[in-house]
Amino acid sequence: MQETGVSHAEMVPLKEVKSKMLSTPHVLVGGAIGRHVRAPYLALPLALVSHFALDAIPHVDTVTFFGIGGAKSNFTTTVDGVAAAALLLFLARGQKRWRWILACGFLAITMDILAMVLVWFPHASRLSVLAWLYRLHAFVGADMRPSDWPLGMATQILILGLAVFFLRFAPRKMSRQDA
Ligand SMILES: [Zn+2]
Repeated sequence: MQETGVSHAEMVPLKEVKSKMLSTPHVLVGGAIGRHVRAPYLALPLALVSHFALDAIPHVDTVTFFGIGGAKSNFTTTVDGVAAAALLLFLARGQKRWRWILACGFLAITMDILAMVLVWFPHASRLSVLAWLYRLHAFVGADMRPSDWPLGMATQILILGLAVFFLRFAPRKMSRQDA
């Protein structure tokens, strides 16, 4: 069925995109991977793949409450993104592996950045690899209703706590053999 060069019309309609985890847990988990996994050939793909793993965990996010597009959604997504970047920079400061922390933190959120780019610039989906990644990302996700927020926030707070611990406080030798 599938031809090369997927058109925007063939992509997952934006309204059907499942709720995606907040940026902050994604970015901090990526940063923790960058701190502990020394081999770049492992750290970089692991950071990228961590995105899908986190998206599959039950959670609520800005999409759950505000959908995609629209002023509220754009505002909360921006606040989330700025908070994620600020926290990552704060936790990476003074660390020997800060470059890897930042690189892996960025890689861990690239799937969401790609999704936003395709929302803003649908023509970019003419690049079939982008459309394929977009659909793969849209496929993974744990849909929850706004009323599920206690569980949906608890999972993310737990992940955030673990990520901050491993990003800043856990001894690095703990995972010298990689994650
Ligand atoms: Zn995502």
